[in-house]
Amino acid sequence: MNKFVVLVVEDDKLILNLMTTTLGIHNYKYLTAASASDALLQITSHNPDVIFLDLGLPDMDGVDLIRKIRTWSAVPIIVISARSEDTDKIEALDAGADDYLTKPFSVDELLARLRVTQRRLAASQGNMNSHIFENGDLKVDFAAGTAYMNGEELALTPIEYKLLCLFCKNIGKTLTHTYLTDAIWGNTFDSDLASLRVFMASLRKKIEKDTTHPQYIQTRIGVGYRMNRL
Ligand code: CA
Repeated sequence: MNKFVVLVVEDDKLILNLMTTTLGIHNYKYLTAASASDALLQITSHNPDVIFLDLGLPDMDGVDLIRKIRTWSAVPIIVISARSEDTDKIEALDAGADDYLTKPFSVDELLARLRVTQRRLAASQGNMNSHIFENGDLKVDFAAGTAYMNGEELALTPIEYKLLCLFCKNIGKTLTHTYLTDAIWGNTFDSDLASLRVFMASLRKKIEKDTTHPQYIQTRIGVGYRMNRL
């Protein structure tokens, strides 16, 4: 039995059933909640390892619930939202959610998000103090401020390096455009968003084999970018 405990917060019974059936088949322990108040109760009493959270709950706005949880807990939160709720999704990520799934999603997508989260938790526990980051053929030495691909040092501009570090330190997490432009420039104007795209394109040219099918950093259309664990 997997010791990992998943809390599913979802008021739609069909989706909840699909998710809990999938989790059960794959030996995950799970808890369920159909409202925000249920969720808060489950989190405080059972301390789950990851939360799947539907943004449209009957008793509280999902984004407000994330803000509330974040006042005392860093538990990974994966938001479940309808395609029409793009702005909510971005708000949720900026409020502290780690990633999102868009309805309708496949069982494979659900399990993939879960594996990414598990690996990220394991890595952050193991390498808390490590200054070397490795993912596939990519290696970053934070102490030296250098990055390598296949053992060869990458010639990155300071902004490209800063961007790359943000992704490495948040591997598996979707980083929104606002998060990235804030972190790089300390503000978010439309012009920064355009610059971000330019820097992302140049960073990708340096780290991806095929920039039309990026392996390391994936575009989350209309939302931001995420580094995948290879
Ligand atoms: Ca709902």
